[in-house]
Amino acid sequence: MPPATVVTRFAPSPTGYLHLGHAFAALFAHRLAAEAGGRFLLRIEDIDPLRCRPEFAAAIEEDLAWLGLAWERPVRVQSEHLADYRRVLEALAARGLVYPCFCTRADIAREIAASAEAPHQGPDGPHYPGTCRALREDERRGRIAAGAPYALRLDMARAAAAAGPLAFREAGEPRVATPEIFGDVVLGRKDTPASYHLCVTHDDAAQGVTLVTRAEDLRPATHLHRLLQALLGWQVPQWRHHPLRVGPDGRRHAKRDRSVTLRDLRAAGHTPAAVRALAGLPD
Ligand code: GLU
Repeated sequence: MPPATVVTRFAPSPTGYLHLGHAFAALFAHRLAAEAGGRFLLRIEDIDPLRCRPEFAAAIEEDLAWLGLAWERPVRVQSEHLADYRRVLEALAARGLVYPCFCTRADIAREIAASAEAPHQGPDGPHYPGTCRALREDERRGRIAAGAPYALRLDMARAAAAAGPLAFREAGEPRVATPEIFGDVVLGRKDTPASYHLCVTHDDAAQGVTLVTRAEDLRPATHLHRLLQALLGWQVPQWRHHPLRVGPDGRRHAKRDRSVTLRDLRAAGHTPAAVRALAGLPD
């Protein structure tokens, strides 16, 4: 069998201008594809209607092209695929693996405060205490019919049991997946039938990504993504996480810090080669 083509991607959210941390991430993914004679994709992760703006998506493409990168077209834009994510959620609901959660943040905080035990801390925050998991079907239907807003949460115990033991490869090394660290995580948000975890996993499979590269702050998410792949029968890529880039003050680059955005570096007269070097991935 011929070796599978390596497919990598850079998947930013258009919530601001790209900075040196993004440049590193994009160059890293691009380089791994190029070294393997593979393919490099760009995906715009814009499911958050409050934080994402089309002008930032346009700026992402402009800045990456200026940096010297090329990617396949068309670019996948997540907000154009909400119906796909909704279908996946419906399929999980039909199998009893997600349930509607009507709680507000305040409800959850109250429930946690009232509990005798300290909540488990997961990568996305304290575990959901499970209030709505216990609702009867007629209660659920009644509240939905009454127009109550709800999120869809993964029933982690059921999902993990349905999938069985799972493993994945990180930088070529075998790892055991422990998705339970997330608890009953939200897969469909109240404001949009989607979530980062669902969309990123769906799209990596839909686009045939074979090597997921991203910063190490997202490393724990891999455990949950591996579970979703198993539940949904999606192709399993390999992963490679890279260190987060930090400024001279030791703090991670932030979009609000204008001094490290590619736009400002370019306006200040830096060449693409100089910015690649500043990002930490020179030619
Ligand atoms: N869209 C995510 C972000 O901007 C990255 C997604 C990923 O690489 O898994 O942080």
